[in-house]
Amino acid sequence: MSLLEVADVTHRYAGTKAAPALNQVSVSVSRGEVVAVVGESGCGKTTLGKLVAGFVRPTTGSVRFEGRDIWSLKGKDYKTWRRSVQMVHQDPYSSLNPGLTIAGTLRPALLRHRLVGRRGVQDEMLRILALVGLDATPAFLRRYPHQLSGGQRQRVAIARAMSLRPRLIVADEVTSMLDVSLRVAILDLLLSFRKGDAIDDMITYLFISHDFGVVRYFSRGGRIIVMFYGVLVEEGPTEDVISHPCHPYTYLLLEAIPVPDPDVAERRAAPASLVEQSEGQPSLTGCVFSNRCPLAQAKCHASQPPLTDVGGAHLTACFFPERIPAVTHLVEGINQR
Ligand code: SF4
Repeated sequence: MSLLEVADVTHRYAGTKAAPALNQVSVSVSRGEVVAVVGESGCGKTTLGKLVAGFVRPTTGSVRFEGRDIWSLKGKDYKTWRRSVQMVHQDPYSSLNPGLTIAGTLRPALLRHRLVGRRGVQDEMLRILALVGLDATPAFLRRYPHQLSGGQRQRVAIARAMSLRPRLIVADEVTSMLDVSLRVAILDLLLSFRKGDAIDDMITYLFISHDFGVVRYFSRGGRIIVMFYGVLVEEGPTEDVISHPCHPYTYLLLEAIPVPDPDVAERRAAPASLVEQSEGQPSLTGCVFSNRCPLAQAKCHASQPPLTDVGGAHLTACFFPERIPAVTHLVEGINQR
C-alpha cells in the first residue's frame, strides 16, 4: 500500500473561472520514496503540496494517507495524521512567527502531541537543534527569528517539522530564497533524515521546485513529476526523465537551464524546431501544451493525450514522444550547477 495516494484530484480555487489549479492529477508515493514535482510558477505544484498537507481540499478526487481519506479522519486518527505530514515552506522569513522565540516555536507542538513531558521538553528541543546543525544551547532557544540568518531560520523551520517525527515532508521551494552557497547544505540536511535513525521513522519526501538542477540533486534515485497548468504531463525515474525527456515541455525546461561553460552551451544548443515555441494559454480541449508546443499536430488540438507508459515506469502525456530529440548532453549543464 502506498503511503500517499492522490487520486484523480481536481482543484479549483473559489471564485475563479480560469482553468483549475489541478486537473485530474493522480500521484502515488511509497514509504521512503523521494518524489520531486517540477514546473513553472503557476503550474499547480504548490497547490498539490498544500493539498497533500491538508491545507486545501480537493474539489473532486481524494487524498489518502496510509489508505485513509485525510478528510474523513477524526479525533486521534486526525491528530496522528496531522503530526505525520509536515510542510516546510519556501520563505524562512515569513514561516516563523516573529513574536516567538525558538523555544516558543518548538515547544507547544511537542507538548500538544505528547512527544515529551514538560520536564524533558528543553532537552528534546536541544536535541532537535543539534540534529539540524544549529547551536544546541539554551541561549539559542531564547533567540527570536530576526536575530537569525536566512539559513538558520530555514533550519529552525526544518527543526519544527522534524520535531513532530513526521513520516511525510512536503518541501516547497525550500532553497529558492537562500544564497546559492547554503542550498546544498539545506538539501543534504533534509536528505540526512531519510534513514530515520534520528527521528524514529523513515522520511518520505514530496519535494517541490521550479529548478531542475535542485530537483535532480535532491531526487537522484527517486522520481520526477512534471506539471504544466495543473496537468501532470510527465512522470518517471529522475535520471530517465532528465536524460530522455518524453514530453516537449520537459525538454524545454531542461533546455532553459543556464550553462556556465560556453563549450557545453554550444554543444547543447537545441534544435530550432523545439526552440521556436510561442507563448500561449493552455488548451482546454486538446493537449494542455498544444498552444505552445513546437511539435503540435492537428490531433493535438482535437484531443487530450492520455498519460502513457513508454517503458520503465516512465509516463508521458504526449502523442509523439519519439519526436523529442535525444538530450543526454543537457545533463552536462545540470551537473555543472
Ligand atoms: S501531444 Fe502534441 S501538443 Fe501535446 S506535447 Fe505532444 S506533440 Fe505537443
